[in-house]
Amino acid sequence: MPETAYPAMKALIIGGGIGGLCSALCLLAKGWRVKVIEQAPVISEIGAGIQLSPNAIQVMQALGLGDAIKAVAFRPVASQMRDGISGKVIMSSPMGSQMQRRYGAPYLHIHRAKLIHILLDALTAQSPGAMNLNMPVIGYDQDEVSIKAKLANGEEIGGDILIGADGIKSVIANQICGPIKPQYTGNIAWRMTVPLARLGRNIPPPAASVWMGQGKHAVTYLLGDGLANFVGVVESDWPQSDNDEDWCGLGSKEEALADFDGWHPIVTSLIDKSDTHFKWALYDRKPLSRWHDGRAVILGDAAHAMLPFIAQGAAMAIEDSYILAQLLSAHQIRGVESLYSHRIARTSKIQKAANANMRLFHHEDEISRIRKQTSLKIADKVSGNAASMMALDWIYRHDVTAALQ
Ligand SMILES: Cc1cc2nc3c(=O)[nH]c(=O)nc-3n(C[C@H](O)[C@H](O)[C@H](O)COP(=O)(O)OP(=O)(O)OC[C@H]3O[C@@H](n4cnc5c(N)ncnc54)[C@H](O)[C@@H]3O)c2cc1C
Repeated sequence: MPETAYPAMKALIIGGGIGGLCSALCLLAKGWRVKVIEQAPVISEIGAGIQLSPNAIQVMQALGLGDAIKAVAFRPVASQMRDGISGKVIMSSPMGSQMQRRYGAPYLHIHRAKLIHILLDALTAQSPGAMNLNMPVIGYDQDEVSIKAKLANGEEIGGDILIGADGIKSVIANQICGPIKPQYTGNIAWRMTVPLARLGRNIPPPAASVWMGQGKHAVTYLLGDGLANFVGVVESDWPQSDNDEDWCGLGSKEEALADFDGWHPIVTSLIDKSDTHFKWALYDRKPLSRWHDGRAVILGDAAHAMLPFIAQGAAMAIEDSYILAQLLSAHQIRGVESLYSHRIARTSKIQKAANANMRLFHHEDEISRIRKQTSLKIADKVSGNAASMMALDWIYRHDVTAALQ
């Protein structure tokens, strides 16, 4: 990234997740000063993996972090859809080196803790003291020339711009748009990682695999450190009330096994051999019409929380971060508003695609299973095994580092 015309500007970034850290690094690369203000006393991530698609890796490469990430990540050879019970492959698209050739960046699987640490180490190396922990923010105040983050302890911190990267329950989004309640999507997700050594012959294929089922699906993939990752999504009435949105924590192995009773041994072994069984209620929010208010802007889940069924939530936070840093460095702050709002069209389309995947991955009964699987098989045959890759071109080909789009 070239140097900025506004070297002394200071950004307050609320939230030290993937979006907040990435945003800090993108702004530092443009010569900004940054202060990340995080509510948690320590930076930690759930023990789970994450898929990073080429559109996200392009930004990591632009930040000079591509090699560090590739060194600890796993490169899947294919993207597959399988029947959850028989395990039969319904559709398969090559990934591996094809992704690099097609999109100029690989598709990678990485442990979340490793990704966070790579981002945090880069931030600390470039700006020691930029990360501020244990500081919950309750809102902001602004005037014509500056903006202040208001902390729960009564303190105020001033800057030139404030970026709300504070996730699905964002207080910054609530102040910009008015109270917006996340909606329970009717799905819970089981999340676990398991050492491959425990799995014997039930090691998942070296692919990004979706296992389709009735009212549920599973996703399996390998991480770069001898671990397999499992996400199991189950339609469920729980939780009964939206007040339970804080709910996520440990479930039991028995409950997870019951959810996937009769499924392929690769799926059930992952559940059986895992030490911890994280259970999450999946929330999302309808697309917001507004992401800014003067000197306050939002990005990542704060702006466009979505179902994880297209593995793009973090990728969108990463794209947002790069674009926002470019715009803030090339324009006066007020001029950024309308340009940045163009992102809403792309993220809303991806939110819709994630919802559509739920309908694709889950069948209601035997007839809908046969109908869906047959049409996927035909698409796979006709396209010569590239149907799912072609269908995702509009997501993966979008390189925000090449041009503002
Ligand atoms: C099961 C599952 C699987 C997923 N898989 C993928 C995948 O494979 N690929 C992908 O791209 N995405 C995936 N996602 C989505 C991805 O995890 C999120 O989109 C991403 O983590 C959002 O990052 P963020 O930084 O915007 O928000 P968050 O990660 O929620 O971070 C927000 C941060 O802000 C802090 N914070 C909140 N409120 C305050 C406050 N008031 N004051 C100060 N700090 C505050 C929080 O403590 C947190 O650190 C998945 C999600 C789920 C649930």
